[in-house]
Formats: sequence, C-alpha cells, structure tokens
Amino acid sequence: MGTPLKILLVSPEIQPFAKTGGLADMCASLAKSLHSLGHDVRLFMPKYKQVEGEKFSLQPLPIKLSIPVGEKNKTGEIFSGTLEDGTPVYFLGNDFYFNRNSLYGDEDEVFTDNAERFIFYSRAALEFCKALPFQPDVVHCNEWQCGLIPVYLKTLYSQDAFYKTTRTVFSIHNLGYQGNFKAETLALARLPEEVFTPGGAEYYGEFSFLKAALVYSDSLTTVSPSYSEEILTKEYGFGMEGVLKDRKKDLYGILNGVDYQEWSPEKDSLITKTYGPSNQDGKELCRSSLLRRFSSTFDNKQPILCMISRLSHQKGVDLVIEALPTLLESGLKFVVLGIGEHRYENELQKLSVRYPENCLCLFKFDERLAHEIVAGSDMILIPSRYEPCGLTQIYGMKYGTIPIGRAVGGLNDSIEEFDQTTEQGTGFKFDEFNLSEFLSAIKRALFVFKNREPWKRLTRNGMQKDFSWDRSALEYVRLYENLIRK
Ligand code: ADP
Repeated sequence: MGTPLKILLVSPEIQPFAKTGGLADMCASLAKSLHSLGHDVRLFMPKYKQVEGEKFSLQPLPIKLSIPVGEKNKTGEIFSGTLEDGTPVYFLGNDFYFNRNSLYGDEDEVFTDNAERFIFYSRAALEFCKALPFQPDVVHCNEWQCGLIPVYLKTLYSQDAFYKTTRTVFSIHNLGYQGNFKAETLALARLPEEVFTPGGAEYYGEFSFLKAALVYSDSLTTVSPSYSEEILTKEYGFGMEGVLKDRKKDLYGILNGVDYQEWSPEKDSLITKTYGPSNQDGKELCRSSLLRRFSSTFDNKQPILCMISRLSHQKGVDLVIEALPTLLESGLKFVVLGIGEHRYENELQKLSVRYPENCLCLFKFDERLAHEIVAGSDMILIPSRYEPCGLTQIYGMKYGTIPIGRAVGGLNDSIEEFDQTTEQGTGFKFDEFNLSEFLSAIKRALFVFKNREPWKRLTRNGMQKDFSWDRSALEYVRLYENLIRK
C-alpha cells in the first residue's frame, strides 16, 4: 500500500445507524474496506432520532460547532461512535433539525426545511474537521444532502489553509433525487451570488444541491459503470445530462460491492439456518419458515418470489402489480417487504386480500425480515425503470435466490442471463419496461425452476459470485490518489 490516505466519508445515512436504502449499506461497507486497507477513514452523519445512542455506545465529544445558516448561527454537537470494525463515525447533533420521526419527511411529504437541515449538515462537516482536527486528503460526499460541501470548499473555504490540499469526490446514487430548492436558499447557505448561475447551481430558476455538486466536485462517481453511461442520455439524465456530459472526463462508474460479513447465508445470524453453495439444506428450512408466514396450508413445491424494495415509481412496483394476478393464479407465492408510496401499498394490499394464501404484504422497514425473506425465497424481482446499482439482486445471488431484473444500470452489470445450454449465468433479465417482457423473464426462470439439476446449477453460480468490496474499494483508492496527485 502507498501512503495511508485521510478520507472523510460524508453520507446522510449509514448502516447500521440509520438507513432508508442502499446508500447506507454502501457507505458503511466502503468505509470498512478502506479501513481494512489501512486508510484513515472517518464517517460523518446526522444524529437522527433513529440513531440509537445507547445501543451503539455513542460518546459526546467536547466540541460545539456554531454554524451560520441564513442570518443566524445554529449549534451543532458532536458524538462519536464506531462501525463494528472500529472505523470512527461522527454524528452531528441538533435536536431541532434531526430529532424527527423520519429522516427526510413524513408520509409522502418531504420536510419543508430540508434545505436548511442539509446546509447546516454540510457546513458542519467542514467545521467539524477543523475542530477535531482531522485534515482530510479527500472528502467523499454522497447524495444531494452533501452536495454543498464541494461548493463551500471552492468558495467560502477556498483561501482556508486547512483545506488547501483537500480534494472532493461526489458519488451519485440516484439522479432522481436532486435537492432542488427556492432561489432564496442561496442566502440561507450564505453562498456568493456567482454560485447561482446556469454554469453553477442554478437549475431552471431553482437552487439545486445536486447540480452544485456535479459542477463543483473535483471528481464524480456513480455506483455502476452502466449507470455512468446511461445518465449522459436524456432518458436517464433527469435533466442533468448536459452538466454530466461537460464533466464526462471526471465521471467514473464503480460498481458497489456488498458486505459479506452482513449478507452471507453461511454466517447470517438473522436467518433460520445457515447454508452455503455446497450444502443448501439450510435454505429449505429458511423456505419453510418463510412459508409459515403465509396464511395457507402450504404447497411446498410452489416457487416463492419476493421483492424487498422502496415502493417507488423507480422500482417498477406498478409492473409487479400488473403481473401479479397472472402469477398468483398460477399458484406461486409472492412476498413483498417495503414501504413507500401509498398507491402501491393499496394495490398490493388488495391483491393480498384477493389471494390471501399466495400473496403476503409486509409494509415495514425491517432489516431482520429482509434477511429472512431473501434467504427463504426462490426468486427476487427487481423490474426497475432505472437502477443506479441495486443491492438486493446481489444479496439474492449470494442466498441462492435468483434475480429477475431489468437490464439497466447496476442490474445489467451484476446479473448474467442464464443460458440453459451452457448452464452459465446467474439470473434473468429483460430489456423493455413492459409486462410481456417481464413475464417472459419470469417464465424462463420458472421453467428452469421445474428442473432440479439446472436450478441447482443456477443457484450455485450466483452463490459463488464475488461482489465483495475488495476490488471496488481499490478503484476508489486509485481515484483518490489520482486526485491528490493532480
Ligand atoms: P435503493 O438504494 O434504491 O433503495 P438498493 O437495492 O440499492 O435500492 O438498496 C436497498 C437496500 O434497502 C437493501 O439493503 C434492502 O435490503 C433494503 N431495504 C429496502 N426496503 C427494505 C425494507 N422494507 N426493510 C428492510 N430493508 C429494506
């Protein structure tokens, strides 16, 4: 290894402290990999109500930050904790901003002061480093909530000796979430007028935290190579394709890894019985446990399909709802674990009333259940409209739960279509977002499922795949080192 790097990894959610999606998993596991490579990596996130201080033995630090937000200064407290491997995590406390029942909004509404909350958080990240002190070589920001950090470094902190050599990386996890706010937000952020221009953070009259990050960061990454290409197009660029094209030479696609300490059927303490590729008896027990959750005297032979997902437009929940009557009529079982838009919950709920023996809806966010379902199911559905990376297909493969996903973004990069002749491949993919292509992919999977030996081969192919962070973390390190050399 070269010289150890000092990396501040800033993310609005980090597993196991607070999570709404794959971002939390990605940041925790990337940090652990960087730590194991010998780098000095520290994480920084808000101390939400959901962060269980006692459980994780968080300690208050003797640091009080005073952060300018608009005309006033707001106080931030700092707490320290660690990931299970000892990687330091710092939490920014401010009850007014973060002591709420959810991370970003209630029900289907986002909090109206999200701009203010994350201005506070972004600026506090920089003031915290100075107070500790921890002089980062790289500040790696994730999602629009951290989008102003690169802007601050290039403007208000551009003459600050402490940050003279610091470089920024911004990871795009989902272009569909942009953090676009009223123009007045500029004043709240105390940023100079020059930032609010078409070549800067201005986006159709609004102040976009995401666009700001895309313009001001030294380097940009997305969480899969395919997504890094797709976002340059009108179809997937969410209006940011022009800015992204301008930054193409600084944009890298690095496929997310997964943390096999957490997500491996061989050592998973959250499932009924552990198992591995060479002995899958445990999977049968996991399957039986899951079947007991359905309200029927079960038919053990029918395949169980699952979906573990935010119930959002992006994830193609409507396509699943369209496909379900046909599938459920044929006798197979379906279980969904997810929270999200109410219209989807309502439709799914109706189906579970119509097919009570075959359709199980679990509308909650529950980590333990996610493990139980991925281990107990035979197939996992991910028919996304777009998918920056996606993690559940990768978890599925490791658990012998065959992914059926749309050939976009990280799904395309991680799932290999199963070829019945060569018996190579790990899942089933479809190209166009429509019912007939989706059903056709499911039918191909069901056909193989009927034949014991090819199915075993298929599950084993997936279980033997290695999507650990070792390779991806090295790609990030290479990127950090190149930036520093510049
Ligand atoms: P995204 O980040 O777009 O939501 P990913 O597939 O990248 O999608 O990551 C989703 C993560 O969130 C996975 O770890 C998945 O297991 C988890 N997850 C999604 N919904 C739930 C839920 N209702 N309960 C528990 N875990 C969930």
